[in-house]
Amino acid sequence: MPPLTEDRIRNLAGFKGHRAPVVSLYLDVDGRRYRRPSDYEHELDRLIRQARSNGHGVEASPDLSRVEAYVRGGVDRKRTRGLAVFASGDDLWEVFDLPVTVRNQLVINSTPHIRQLETVRENGRRFAVLLADRQRARLFAFELGELAEHSERFDQLPRHEDDGGGLDRDHVHDRAANAAHQHLKRTAAAVFEVFREQPFDHLVVGAADELAHDLERELHPYLKERLAGRLSVPVTAKVDDVRVAALEVEHEVERSRQAAAVERLRAAVHSAAGLGLAGLDSVLAALGERRVETLIVSEGYEIEGWRCASCDVLARVGPACPACGAKMAKVDDVLEEAIEDALSQSCRVDVCTDNADLDVLGRVGALLRY
Ligand SMILES: [Zn+2]
Repeated sequence: MPPLTEDRIRNLAGFKGHRAPVVSLYLDVDGRRYRRPSDYEHELDRLIRQARSNGHGVEASPDLSRVEAYVRGGVDRKRTRGLAVFASGDDLWEVFDLPVTVRNQLVINSTPHIRQLETVRENGRRFAVLLADRQRARLFAFELGELAEHSERFDQLPRHEDDGGGLDRDHVHDRAANAAHQHLKRTAAAVFEVFREQPFDHLVVGAADELAHDLERELHPYLKERLAGRLSVPVTAKVDDVRVAALEVEHEVERSRQAAAVERLRAAVHSAAGLGLAGLDSVLAALGERRVETLIVSEGYEIEGWRCASCDVLARVGPACPACGAKMAKVDDVLEEAIEDALSQSCRVDVCTDNADLDVLGRVGALLRY
């Protein structure tokens, strides 16, 4: 799969199905939940039946059949836990094999439904895991929960027989401690080299507490500020065990990042500068005026709304456009439309999961440019 980049999502967000509607499918194919392919195919059948029965299906029928055939053609589930497929006649066919699960969803609209994809991308920051003991170090980089890179460095401590017979125990101890220290310094330098070639957002250290402390002290300041927690997996752990443990840390990091974003929003809403807005109506108005810098939305928040056919603004209440007075058309999920607009205006978008403070603020908010 080509990387799930912000650009790729922005392109999708900007796509309009002029000649045919756009079918967006998210399908959970996680082998832990669906043991046989027929289990998730059954879910797909249900989604397609639903789409056909509420009248959307007629125009989109060829695309629905194509998507269905694609899924039935088989999914390599060794790495893929979620599928995202976008289809619109001859103009659009995009498949994302995601290493993380998605919520089953089939949407037929005039634009691709990119919200879940954006959430996946946001949560998929590049993560490095450094495992070390006094003699060995291994570095892994994960992206979207998948192993992206793996470098191993071995640095043997001198063995006792190498020290010869002339040294007393203290000397041996000093030499061993010195060698361990050199090992940490070299490890820290090597991590920085990897970072300069392929930067990562977070670094997690897996080592015994004392060693982790010493190792963290040796890290370059750029790496120190990226420290995101510690793992307790041995340096010899299997890659898959490292991945699972790292995902847990990543999940925690993501939660606190979201909490910080909501806290910034709360502070901005209550400050005199007036650069924060909470609640759907004011956020949609600000988006229409292109004043939004960061849009913050609660993950499950979906509500019908309207879009102006003339000036394109979104509103919760219709049918008369609050900006220009023209007639607006109904949209199924005005938050999805808002996220698409925000992305095509180059705003940041933060989709937050289970954040009670954001719910109190009306489940949606915006930090403003001015
Ligand atoms: Zn209008």
